[in-house]
Amino acid sequence: MNKVGLWSDCHNFPSLPLMKLSAYHKSIGDTIETYMPINHYDLVYASKVFSFTDDIDVESIIQADEVIKGGSGYCISVKDGKEVFDSSRNKPLPKEIEHIYPDYSLYPEYSYAVGFLTRGCPRNCGFCVVGKKEGLCSKQVADLSEFWRGQKEIKLLDPNILACKNHEELLRQLAESNAKVDFTQGLDIRLTNPDNIRLLNQVKTSMLHFAWDDPKQDLTEYFKQFSQYTTVKSDRNKSVYVLTNYNSTIEEDLYRIYTLRDLGYNPYVMIYQKETAPKQIRRLQRWVNCRRIFRVVDKFENYTGGR
Ligand code: SF4
Repeated sequence: MNKVGLWSDCHNFPSLPLMKLSAYHKSIGDTIETYMPINHYDLVYASKVFSFTDDIDVESIIQADEVIKGGSGYCISVKDGKEVFDSSRNKPLPKEIEHIYPDYSLYPEYSYAVGFLTRGCPRNCGFCVVGKKEGLCSKQVADLSEFWRGQKEIKLLDPNILACKNHEELLRQLAESNAKVDFTQGLDIRLTNPDNIRLLNQVKTSMLHFAWDDPKQDLTEYFKQFSQYTTVKSDRNKSVYVLTNYNSTIEEDLYRIYTLRDLGYNPYVMIYQKETAPKQIRRLQRWVNCRRIFRVVDKFENYTGGR
């Protein structure tokens, strides 16, 4: 029987790999605990989501016979302001652990189920590492029953579920669960059609997220079509991320923002490399993302805040 310590840099969300590792090690009789620097372990797992957070051993020497590190935070680094993916450091979980039912008791403060039904994305957006990490095809990796057993809420981590050829069957599974579903990574509006929108209508949701990242693509007709078939009518429940400071002019940013607002969607400005972004883009973000102001100040040129 081994004593296993679990560490993650993710503090506001349960770590899915750690929950799976916990389930696996419990199943073979090991004892599990959250990693404490004063204790000694046979094995420590460190799971890092972010490249900018401190590593497990920054402040203390790990007392363990073996340390296994994994997660995007170890294989993504930032060079010249761009995220770089190092595939040699990418360590997927072994198959028998990847597909185990997660040990949700590790995080009693969260009551929802969490997981991936699909992995990968064909879009290969320049600012995103999903394609390099998970592949350029969205493939089904699980049925819902693999990580859901009656919880009232499901947080889906799929990068682009609508790009999967089985997505209609997966949407049916989500609808039949009757649980409230959060598509945390958003839905690709370019892949919506009357059939899958009707299926989405059967899935319980409180908020749908989309993105309009590329200003060179006019997505107006897709948003119009979605509005025509969806039962989600309020703009408060349809949010659209608008990427700025990444190959777009302020005119292109404003075009997307005004168009979305006129179509009954809630634009939400995201800034690429915010630390070095021009002041005008930060003001734009403040104006749009502060709902109270955005509702009363109709044009960016009339917004006087943050000058
Ligand atoms: S569509 Fe989304 S998940 Fe896919 S590459 Fe672009 S940003 Fe990443």
